[in-house]
Amino acid sequence: MRIRVLGSGAGGGVPQWNCGCENCRAVRSGQLGIEARTQDSIAVRNGHGGWVLCNCSPDVLRQIEAFDELHPRAPRHSPISAIILTNGDLDHVLGLFSLRESYPLVLYATDGVRRGLFEQNAIASTLARFEGHVTHRALPLGTEVSIDDARGEPTGIRVTARPVRGKIPVHLEGIAPSSPDQNVGLWLRDATGKAAAYVSAVSDVADVTPHLGGVDVLLLDGTFWSSDELSRPGLSKARAEDMAHLPVGDPGGSLELTARFEVRRRIYTHINNTNPMLVEASPERHAVKAAGWEVANDGMEILL
Ligand SMILES: [Zn+2]
Ligand SMILES: [Zn+2]
Repeated sequence: MRIRVLGSGAGGGVPQWNCGCENCRAVRSGQLGIEARTQDSIAVRNGHGGWVLCNCSPDVLRQIEAFDELHPRAPRHSPISAIILTNGDLDHVLGLFSLRESYPLVLYATDGVRRGLFEQNAIASTLARFEGHVTHRALPLGTEVSIDDARGEPTGIRVTARPVRGKIPVHLEGIAPSSPDQNVGLWLRDATGKAAAYVSAVSDVADVTPHLGGVDVLLLDGTFWSSDELSRPGLSKARAEDMAHLPVGDPGGSLELTARFEVRRRIYTHINNTNPMLVEASPERHAVKAAGWEVANDGMEILL
């Protein structure tokens, strides 16, 4: 299995259009030791099979152009065989509407996520331009399914979606019921049994811990370093918990809670632009590295 990190930033990316925080300013001024990041998505491939996108960020067009293996090989073609969604947050789904140019898409999503995206949403009809434009496939909780392309051919990637504590997308608050299938982690496996877990939004690692046996690589929610990262400098009233992200560095944060994880590679992704661990020379980055963690960057390749 090959994993390509297409985007390692949280919602807004790095830099974020309306943010003048220290990190965003550093990236804009070309300072060394901190990289720009697009929004959260990975691409996964088994051998010579097609690429499977996990999440489809608002930056998907840039992400495709930045990675030649996702370029078309015919006048109308895409090496993307299927797309799996982890939740309905706009930073994970908005890119779908940028892929509207009449090409068959295969979409794996839980019932709750699919309903949130395709019901009561006038824009969704742009993905129904012809019969079979989007093939909807179920993403059941706790059951492994084969990811197949539009013709039903297996990509060689199998996935188990597990509910992890999170929250309903902001635009569905008060409209759709909160249910466990609104936010899932993806456990990906290839034919050789190599396995990766991709959990880019989670507020409690207790939902992840019991399922790490046999997992070679864990990609985990690294959105915020501390609970008051946005509220302290007055960037927002919300704390990390309010946005359903377990902070990395706080007491009781993911760094502490995962200290005994026995996963060979542990990688933080979905990193907000305010997170101090984005700065390579920061004490926070040193703490993460000392604990055996890596910090994802766009274009990172993981070979299993
Ligand atoms: Zn997100
Ligand atoms: Zn910023």
